Amino acid sequence: MKAMIYHGPGRKAWEDVPDATIEKPTDVVVKIETTTICGTDLHILGGDVPAVQDGRILGHEGVGTITEVGSAVTSLQVGDRVIISCISACGHCDMCKQRVFSHCLADEGASGIGWILGHLINGTQAEYVRVPFAETSVYRLPDGVTPQEGAMLSDILPTGHEIGVQYGHVKVGDVVVVVGAGPVGLAAIMTSRLYGPSKVIAVDLDANRVEQAKRFGATHGVLSSDDDWKDQVMALTDGLGVDVAIEAVGVPATFQMCLDVVRPAGHVANVGVHGAGVPLPLDTLWISNITIAMGLVNTDTTATLLKMVAEHTPVREPYLRPWRHREGLRRVRPGRRDAGAQGCAQRLTSRRRPHGRRPTCGVRLRGCADAALPSWTSWTSNQVGHTNRAPAPRPKVVWHRTSVCPTADRGGYVAKSRDSDDDSW
Ligand SMILES: [Zn+2]
Ligand SMILES: [Zn+2]
Repeated sequence: MKAMIYHGPGRKAWEDVPDATIEKPTDVVVKIETTTICGTDLHILGGDVPAVQDGRILGHEGVGTITEVGSAVTSLQVGDRVIISCISACGHCDMCKQRVFSHCLADEGASGIGWILGHLINGTQAEYVRVPFAETSVYRLPDGVTPQEGAMLSDILPTGHEIGVQYGHVKVGDVVVVVGAGPVGLAAIMTSRLYGPSKVIAVDLDANRVEQAKRFGATHGVLSSDDDWKDQVMALTDGLGVDVAIEAVGVPATFQMCLDVVRPAGHVANVGVHGAGVPLPLDTLWISNITIAMGLVNTDTTATLLKMVAEHTPVREPYLRPWRHREGLRRVRPGRRDAGAQGCAQRLTSRRRPHGRRPTCGVRLRGCADAALPSWTSWTSNQVGHTNRAPAPRPKVVWHRTSVCPTADRGGYVAKSRDSDDDSW
């Protein structure tokens, strides 16, 4: 089978490897239908996760069809379409009994850590993947839920909800700021609305992202590149600051931004994956009575969120359109800059111009020239939030992707090209 293999910081390759097989009675093997590139994968490629060894298949999110079941698996069958959770949990250990699945004590990968796919064991960026503890680590894809929607349940939606919104203690009437409007930030914005905040403020470097965040439930948007961004946020509060500040990037600057705007007795929830230490000025913070939370997603709300997606609640629709940027698994190639690419601009061209004009990419990537800037990681993650402003390609148009991910030189990777006659997105 083909798989994306990690070969050390900055090095990866799409290679032929032995097929995934059943190794333990509680395993299933899933034929991958949809997978994603998570910001965490880019942290791995950046050398931030040294536990990932040379030769590891990357990826921890995906949807597919079960092709083999282990002898102890009784509630799943070959042919079931399933969502693969980023957390593999045995369901029986002391941590699982407390619903802290993120720190499952079973000995798959390493005891005490539930995120093992694409980390400590081979992951989902492959044609097939072995999923341990299948009965407690996959969810059947409900009728009417697309694989693209289902993939959002692997990690992104539960992470934004649990680590951002629940750990941030969002409640009725709160003013919430979400710093970083990438996929997980958007998930936090969307799910925060379930708790009745009075305002949800999206902060990002990119104006298009800020606008897109409003489709996901943000009531206000602020450009972090504005010199007075903090004043703009504070003006949306009673002057004391926000009740909840959710960090969804993973760099020191954005964590500090949250500290800058949170009110006394407020909450800071750090969702971003940090690759380096972050200063914590306790000498000035201690007197403010704020709480700071962080963590690895437990996935203990995944089933609830999936039910909401399946029931067509507001936790669904906005995730549809951004998936226009998708690629066939067999066409994935290690990325590099196209000789013809203009800086960071990504463009889509069609062989026939829909509605008489060429669609152009509406994204402005001010952050992508510098990996330390806030929007970089989350922009590349799953491509969500990068929405082509061009009109939908009607009538039928054959799309051809002509440029590659602007982060390719720093470890990102995308399909080199794609031809598709699927105009349903
Ligand atoms: Zn992820
Ligand atoms: Zn466990």
